[in-house]
Amino acid sequence: MKVTRIAYSQRLNQSKYAQLDEQALLLGRVRALVWRRYGSVTGLGISDRTIRDQWMADGTAAGFGVLANAWKETVRDAVADIKACREAAKVPVRQAIHRHYTTEEERKQAYTALKRDTWTPDPYLSRMMRRHWRRGVSRTTNQIVVRSDQYRTFTLAEGGSIWLAAPGLKQRQMVTIPLNTTVAPTGTLRLILRGGRVEVHYTIDAPDLRETRPCGTVKVGVDKGYTEALTDSDGNHHGTELGELLRAESDFLKVKNARRAKIRSVAEKAREKGDLAKADRITANNLGIAKRNRRRNRFESRVRTVTFTAVHAVVDKAAHVVAEDLTRSFPSRKKLGKNTNRRLAAWTKGVTAEALTNVSERRGSALTLVNAAYTSQVAPCCRILGKRSGDRLHCTRCGDVWQADHAGAINVLERDGDPDISLHTPHTRVKQLIQERTDRHRTRLPVQDSSTPVRRANYPIRAEMLNK
Ligand SMILES: [Zn+2]
Repeated sequence: MKVTRIAYSQRLNQSKYAQLDEQALLLGRVRALVWRRYGSVTGLGISDRTIRDQWMADGTAAGFGVLANAWKETVRDAVADIKACREAAKVPVRQAIHRHYTTEEERKQAYTALKRDTWTPDPYLSRMMRRHWRRGVSRTTNQIVVRSDQYRTFTLAEGGSIWLAAPGLKQRQMVTIPLNTTVAPTGTLRLILRGGRVEVHYTIDAPDLRETRPCGTVKVGVDKGYTEALTDSDGNHHGTELGELLRAESDFLKVKNARRAKIRSVAEKAREKGDLAKADRITANNLGIAKRNRRRNRFESRVRTVTFTAVHAVVDKAAHVVAEDLTRSFPSRKKLGKNTNRRLAAWTKGVTAEALTNVSERRGSALTLVNAAYTSQVAPCCRILGKRSGDRLHCTRCGDVWQADHAGAINVLERDGDPDISLHTPHTRVKQLIQERTDRHRTRLPVQDSSTPVRRANYPIRAEMLNK
């Protein structure tokens, strides 16, 4: 597994930062151009090399104002981003293919076309790709990608902090950046400029830093809640601060977005009336995205910390974690609409899924994903569909009351090894099975309030045998 490491600049002087900032801004234009021209179906099958050759031949490159290596790396990076975006869209399309076609042969053909990017002549596939592959725009203007042979690292004293010499805007003019680490970054670097500081991102192979903390010894089921990151089958809640974090952010966004909409309409009205200067002023000063993105980054990293800490706490005791397949149950973007709260909740599901995979892999615990249909509705005491009210689950047979997430975690744990319910069993069939099992159970228990139901149930069989 590859992991990203980040080194930070330390006491970098302002003029060096300004030089890098200018370069990143110019490269941002290159990046945006790649997205604009090749970010959609027009970019299919066009490699970064083709784009580079064309831009050098037709003079586009001459206007970039940066060194050739810098913009070429940016083109390569942007093309890779576009590809990643397209590949991500193929996941739901593959599911759609499975549902749409009935024979294995048809499915196989469609999967192959999708994989080889030869789906454009197929109207069904094209429609599905259009639906799931949203056209992206690049607003990234703070990154510089530096290939491994374009920079060098050095120290001023034995064992001292690392310095990075990265290319500037002119040939042979390097910008030297003092870093906060004694470990030299390697491979391709991504310099990200944020608030006067340079972040140096690079990837290394994970085995070098395999987590030393061992996993636990038992098997644990987990349920993803909303007010907490996870509840385990022992009834412990982990990451309980998540609910408050989401609620606060959602409330903030609701107000903020309403205000932005109002300001946007003022700008639009001004534009209609021909007051372009006012409209532009509002767009530039009141509808910017820099602060919004900063806040989003802060919020997202806070959620990630809470989630990863919660998963670590589970793995502290578990050698085997059983969880719901969180990537399967994503509601569509359309369904979520403008409900910020639900949108955030859906997003945190993805973070939890990532944390479960990542932490399990790093700490050596097993992770099994199971079908989660009805796990939050079955009362574990009697295995019947209980009655849910708020976060409580009432068992209608024995009267027990369960905390819904705890019950969910127990049921998730029991799904592992359930012979009838696999990951792909449709939820209608799951419900049917639960009811069938309840009925079977009931026929074995003729008198419900009996204190010795099992013996009574067996009695008729024994009597029969004695009569022989
Ligand atoms: Zn019960």
